[in-house]
Amino acid sequence: MHQNAIVDLRSDTVTRPTPAMRAAMSIAELGDDVFGDDPTVNRLQERAAELFGCEAALFFPSGTQSNLAALMSHCQRGDEVIVGQEAHTYRYEAGGGAVLGSIQPQPLANLPDGSLNLGEVESAIKPDDSHFARTRLLALENSIGGRVLDRAYLHAAVELAERRGLATHLDGARIFNAAVKLGIHVKDLCRGFDTVSVCLSKGLGAPAGTVLVGRRDVISRARRMRKILGGAMRQAGVIAAAGLYAIDHHVERLAEDHANAERLAQGLGRLDFEVEPPQTNMVFVKIPKEACAPLVEYLKAEGVLALAGPRMRLCTHLDVDAAGIDRAVNAFAGFLARGAVESRGVL
Ligand SMILES: *Cc1c(COP(=O)(O)O)cnc(C)c1O
Repeated sequence: MHQNAIVDLRSDTVTRPTPAMRAAMSIAELGDDVFGDDPTVNRLQERAAELFGCEAALFFPSGTQSNLAALMSHCQRGDEVIVGQEAHTYRYEAGGGAVLGSIQPQPLANLPDGSLNLGEVESAIKPDDSHFARTRLLALENSIGGRVLDRAYLHAAVELAERRGLATHLDGARIFNAAVKLGIHVKDLCRGFDTVSVCLSKGLGAPAGTVLVGRRDVISRARRMRKILGGAMRQAGVIAAAGLYAIDHHVERLAEDHANAERLAQGLGRLDFEVEPPQTNMVFVKIPKEACAPLVEYLKAEGVLALAGPRMRLCTHLDVDAAGIDRAVNAFAGFLARGAVESRGVL
């Protein structure tokens, strides 16, 4: 990493395509994907389906659209999805399932480990009665807020859904972070889910794109939903090529991001910050409310970007190496030193 390069810890979406990824994009074979004849998009979809042990896959411009198309493929108008309060599909997608799908969410509190209590999930399933919405879908997320749901939990969730006749969707925007952390294959981790949405533009480093994998009938409905939502693209192979490159070259290296998150947590811990032990590529640090804005401003002047918040989230990714992490820790230390001089007691 260049000495003066910005250390951007705001999100793992900020990565730029590497030169090798750009090269793969520039030579990608292209066609019109609305006619189904972009060979690179088709290759990405086949590769993703095979990787996840699924029948089919579909390429989307964004994870939000992929999740929404999945929800709308599983649920009819007036159906209900059981989902976590902290889930991206519930909280951070502008209520798209309700706005465009007329799908009622039944949110449940996430436990501290990110999971939903399966007893509560079962109790939330509504009886077949004209008073109630039809509970149709269980939607989980992995990793969720940097935390990993393990294989035994996911399999138990899928078993419950099957027993009670619910479909299952996994928002696996960062599923490879979870799989690398657990040291198991995504095929094994996601077994039994009807659909899984996988972001290529987070830790994997592609500039855009998400792939939805799943059962052929659901993916076929999702294709119609993608058209409705305006997500059918033409020579999309240009970006699919980046996704293919990412799947082939950037999965195993997620372990480096996890090690860098650990390095960051340790460094901040030594400075006496209250840090939650990271499981994957996200570090959460407690910052006194009044220090949030001055801290972010100070870090920025030192070439370190972070989002302000009392539970500050710092993300590691492809474009931050160990030297960058050390620079970030030094910048936090500089802020503390300055605080001691200028405004004793800010931290
Ligand atoms: C980022 C993210 C999405 C949505 O992806 P976009 O490509 O930004 O629309 C969905 N789910 C989770 C968990 C995410 O982190």
